[in-house]
Amino acid sequence: MVPFVQTPRISIPKLGLGTWKLAGAEGQAAVESALALGYRHLDTADSYGNEEVVGAAMAASGITRGEIFLTSKVWWNNLAPDAIRRSLEGSLRKLGTTYLDLFLVHWPAPDMDLPAVARTMQAARDEGLVRRWGVSNFPLGLMLRLEEIGAEPACLQVEYHALLSQQRLLDWCRPRGIALTAYSPLARGVLAELPALQEIGRKHGATALQVALAWLLRQEGVVAIPKAARKQSQQANLDAVGLAGKLDAGDVAAIGALPKDRRQVNPDFSPDWNA
Ligand code: NAP
Repeated sequence: MVPFVQTPRISIPKLGLGTWKLAGAEGQAAVESALALGYRHLDTADSYGNEEVVGAAMAASGITRGEIFLTSKVWWNNLAPDAIRRSLEGSLRKLGTTYLDLFLVHWPAPDMDLPAVARTMQAARDEGLVRRWGVSNFPLGLMLRLEEIGAEPACLQVEYHALLSQQRLLDWCRPRGIALTAYSPLARGVLAELPALQEIGRKHGATALQVALAWLLRQEGVVAIPKAARKQSQQANLDAVGLAGKLDAGDVAAIGALPKDRRQVNPDFSPDWNA
């Protein structure tokens, strides 16, 4: 059973399936496989071009909609209020659902009207089209601006793993009950090669990637959404939930001592991460 992050702002399964690059019949089979294994949290986005595939997998799974936590996102060049609305309606249609559990601004845009964006996201919530809204790839400065205007995002999704610190954002999100969702939680597979993680894994009968995932899952307020196409990897990632409680102080210190500046995702439209 996957535990939840539960705060006054959100209740969200701590482990979800990332679906970037899961496309076509193979992608649908991968999402169906994850649901059959017990995943109940799916992360997609308009920009992934796979919402129809995710929707078809949910329908084929036979699992009732209410049991699945579904996230989608609006792309950064669609942040005018009417464009957000169109993107959301398109996502709902493609996913074959009447609501999202979580709707995220995928990336900030330099010229966005932040109060208008927040108002539009909140209006979608008030209308019941989305249960919660949040943001992704927002640096602390933009989170502060959201708070200044009275906006209440429920989730911040950012790259976070054993080779990238997000301490500043975590320290800010936790007391506010904002869930921090770790994307690329395996650093896109890079972590598999780290001797420190391999060694901890040997001690616990686990892989380096399971150790990396368990390190995230043991943290208060943190959610992780590894992407895995293969059933075996999906199961291994699910099993990392059980490992989370077994890491000891020495393991945590060794992971803490790894370099923390190895960002994997940094496109040219990225904000100033230190803002
Ligand atoms: P990731 O989850 O860190 O890594 C995915 C890679 O790890 C895939 O190549 C996968 O292989 C492999 N893998 C997964 N589990 C494994 C296991 N147990 N053993 C061996 N290999 C394993 O990277 P990601 O896809 O970048 O991030 C995850 C999700 O976060 C995305 O799918 C997306 O939903 C979200 N995301 C959001 C943003 C954003 O801007 N908000 C940006 C990036 C990602 P196979 O698939 O071949 O099995």
